[in-house]
Amino acid sequence: MTKPAITIHGGFFSELTTSPETKLAKQEALRFIIRKSWDFLQTHSALQTAIYACTLLEDDPLFNAGTGSQIQSDGVIRMSASICDGETQKFSGVINLEDVKNPVLVAEKLLDCEDRILAGEGALRFARSHGFGYYDPRIPIRIQDYEARKKAASKTGTIGCVALDSEGRLAAATSTGGKGFEIVGRVSDSATVAGNYANQFCGVSCTGVGEDIVNGAVAAKIVTRVTDGMPLKEAVEKTFAELKPFDGFAGIVAIDHFGNMIQKDSHPHIVYALKNEGSEEIFG
Ligand code: ASP
Repeated sequence: MTKPAITIHGGFFSELTTSPETKLAKQEALRFIIRKSWDFLQTHSALQTAIYACTLLEDDPLFNAGTGSQIQSDGVIRMSASICDGETQKFSGVINLEDVKNPVLVAEKLLDCEDRILAGEGALRFARSHGFGYYDPRIPIRIQDYEARKKAASKTGTIGCVALDSEGRLAAATSTGGKGFEIVGRVSDSATVAGNYANQFCGVSCTGVGEDIVNGAVAAKIVTRVTDGMPLKEAVEKTFAELKPFDGFAGIVAIDHFGNMIQKDSHPHIVYALKNEGSEEIFG
């Protein structure tokens, strides 16, 4: 029997506002969500738990996914989310999906389909035909932020979860509102194997600048290295060293099949929480 473990992240502190109140609120939200998800993991699989944790994070407007997602350059929110089931090694995702509450749940529906990654209009049609009703994920602070960004540079956010259950199964899920103010049609890393990946050996969820994460194939590389026998810490260090030549901006949370957990960021500071039977760490 494997000792379960779970880790979640809520993107970077660079996004939205870095006021002490926001930091505290995010820490509190992470503490609440990791504890709820930990309890859930005691009676559910890693896959079910990763999805569950992501829905809680998507529903919290403090984070840039689901409710509270960032707004793109044309004033519309388009969200992306994916799931990777380490046991079956199936990956599913939605890209640039509009007007639903929980993109990760639409990605979950796709896990059982033959066509498992859908974008834009097709993803929306699929969601509606599977009972996901209209939902407006905009919140006032994002609208203000969008107005300000018509003049300023973009920032980052995103949420994710990696879980290991008592049967040794790993799963990863990641969901994002994107970078904010991006060109319409831009594809986030969060619904690619660069931003979210798991197999029987390791699971990784990323946040940061999607282009950098895809350039570095971050999640897929870490998982492959661990699969080939490299210790998790070394796999993470090596993959992050490879981001340096282009100053890649990325943060990850990961768990290996031994239950080792790790978080790392290339720039300060990823917002994260780790939990297993013996310990709980919030943000760091
Ligand atoms: N990785 C996401 C993206 O580029 C943004 C983020 O993590 O905040 O779409």
